[in-house]
Amino acid sequence: MKITMDDAAQMLRDAQTVILTSHIRPDGDAIGSTLGLMHVLRAEGKDVRVLIDDEIPRIFNVLPDVDQIERPVKGQRYTADLLVVCDVELGRTGESVPSVDAVRLLNIDHHVTNDEKADYLYLDPDAAATCEIAYDITRTLGVTPTLDAAICFYTGIAMDTGFFRFSNTTPHTMRAAADLIEIGVKPNIISVAMEMKSYDEVMAQVKAIRNLEMFFDGRVAAVFIDEERARTVTTTEGLLDKLRVIEGTQVVFFMKWLEKDTYRVSMRSKGTNVSRIAQKFDGGGHIRAAGCTIHAPFAEARTAILDAIGEELNA
Ligand code: 5GP
Ligand code: MN
Repeated sequence: MKITMDDAAQMLRDAQTVILTSHIRPDGDAIGSTLGLMHVLRAEGKDVRVLIDDEIPRIFNVLPDVDQIERPVKGQRYTADLLVVCDVELGRTGESVPSVDAVRLLNIDHHVTNDEKADYLYLDPDAAATCEIAYDITRTLGVTPTLDAAICFYTGIAMDTGFFRFSNTTPHTMRAAADLIEIGVKPNIISVAMEMKSYDEVMAQVKAIRNLEMFFDGRVAAVFIDEERARTVTTTEGLLDKLRVIEGTQVVFFMKWLEKDTYRVSMRSKGTNVSRIAQKFDGGGHIRAAGCTIHAPFAEARTAILDAIGEELNA
């Protein structure tokens, strides 16, 4: 059931023990929204934990108390008055949602592809980031975010808007970010931390880009990272930013080996609806940024994603 922001704020107010969670392969918005709300709610005297069932990339070490994020322990049950699922529908949290016994569950998201299965869902596809929503909910609670919370919210907003460059950046997004900077966030510290890579990571990405391929008369640029190359390309953060600059491209993507017969696809577009492509493979996202996982051998996965993109380009 979809609820209003006032309702969502009231649910947070009513809970004394809260568990926050988000999606596997967490990004800045997933980590920022959960950790940021943790700081807000702890400052309100609540008992709060964050569970994320994956490794936290080290670029996020800049976020206050990121080391307090817990990975759910197999077989352990977690209890709370309220479970808050941020930046994703309930199905993509790994073991987090299944291991929590909560009286109520609140889902906060900005993905058009949210399956709307949560009992209580605050969904705003026009919000640039879940962190933008989390910031607004904090204000709705009548609370000014602490600096720790502000750093987290700012990071999620900055990451999901490509540092305020993508089409999801609205006047409200900028005002929220301005408020957070006023609280004390240093934009340069966040951007330097988010873009940091090791020498090896940079060289591996350069090698991956050397294998760039163009399709559909230059409208699509892609990098395929097979099992062997996946061992060195340990981060794909920023990779698509290098492809999207190519003149004439409508869709850019990479397909990366994850495990046997399993490939991760991440897509960006300049208007082509890539979330619809991702949904063909049970993935999702936004019109201009989406992802999915394809279960097939390399050659088959490659053909499948290229065919799906071709169909959407001609739609
Ligand atoms: P990225 O390409 O950065 O992994 O993801 C782009 C956008 O698509 C993000 O908003 C992300 O949450 C969403 N997304 C990526 N992969 C999946 C997926 O497998 N399922 C769903 N529902 N959304 C995804
Ligand atoms: Mn997001």
